[in-house]
Amino acid sequence: MTAHESSSGSSKKLAADAAVSRSDRPKCVPVYFYEPGRHLFHAWIAMAHEPGTLARILNSLPVPAINLFHLTASDGSHDGLSIAHLYAEADAEMTPQELGALLRKIPGVTDARVEGGIDGLLIDTSYPLQITRGPQALILDRQQLVGMVDEVREKFGSGGAVLLYDQGLSLGRESWNEFLKLVGRKFAVQHLSYLGNWHSARGLGRMEVVEFNLERGGARIRVTDNFECVGHTTPTPYSQLLRGLIAGLLSALWESPVGCRETHCVAVGEAYCEFEVERVASEPVNEILPG
Ligand SMILES: [Zn+2]
Repeated sequence: MTAHESSSGSSKKLAADAAVSRSDRPKCVPVYFYEPGRHLFHAWIAMAHEPGTLARILNSLPVPAINLFHLTASDGSHDGLSIAHLYAEADAEMTPQELGALLRKIPGVTDARVEGGIDGLLIDTSYPLQITRGPQALILDRQQLVGMVDEVREKFGSGGAVLLYDQGLSLGRESWNEFLKLVGRKFAVQHLSYLGNWHSARGLGRMEVVEFNLERGGARIRVTDNFECVGHTTPTPYSQLLRGLIAGLLSALWESPVGCRETHCVAVGEAYCEFEVERVASEPVNEILPG
C-alpha cells in the first residue's frame, strides 16, 4: 500500500495483505496446568543466545521419561542470555533436582532450575512478565476484562461510555507513539494493515485496515471478534473502549484530533465491527453514546 491509496482495488489489497500474513491458530500463554495425579515440572533455563542451543536442550531430554508439553523461549535480551521455559510431564522416578542437574550439563546452558507441581497442579511462578523486549505485562482472562468494562457501563451509563472512550483514546495514543518510536512514521504508514496485528497480538480482537487515505485523513478499520461487543445484543453499535483506541491510534498517526464512528457492530447482529475514522480540525464531540 502507498499512503495515498484508497480506491476499492487497494482496499481489497489491504484486506488481503492483512489476511495472508496472519495466523489463525491460537497461542497459549502458560499460567497454570492441571493434570491430577501427574508429575508436572517447570524448567527455567538461562542459555547462550546462539543458534543450536535450544535444539541441543530439546534433544537432551530423556524420552519417554520426560514428555515436554509446552515451551517458550525469549531472545537474547537478558544480559546476552536467552531464557527458556519448559513445561513437562515426568515419570514417577524423575525428580526436579535430577532434571535440573541434567539440564545444567548441556553445553550453552548457564543456569537451570526446575520446580515440580503439587498433586498435578503446576502454577507458573515466573515474575515479572514482559511483552517481548518491552514493557511489563499483565494477563487477564478476557471475560474478566469484559465484566469490568460492562460494569462501568451498567453503573455509570452514558458517563461510563464516555470514560471508556477516553481511556481507549489515551491507550491508543500511547501504544501508537510507542510503535512510532520503534519503527518510525514512514514504516507505520506503509504497513498499516500489518500493524493491526499489534493489537490482535494482545487479544483485543482481529483488527484490519480496509481503507486508508493519509492525505484526506480518512480510514475504515474492521475488527472481528471485538472483545467489547461479542456476546452483547444492543439496538445501536456498542463499542466505546476499542472505538476510542482506534481514534487514539489514528490521531497519533495524523497528529490531529479525529472523529470515529462505529458503522457496523456484532452487537446489532452483524458479522464484525467496523469503524470510520475522519481527521477533524478541532477536538471532536464524543457523539456516540449508548442507547
Ligand atoms: Zn461493535
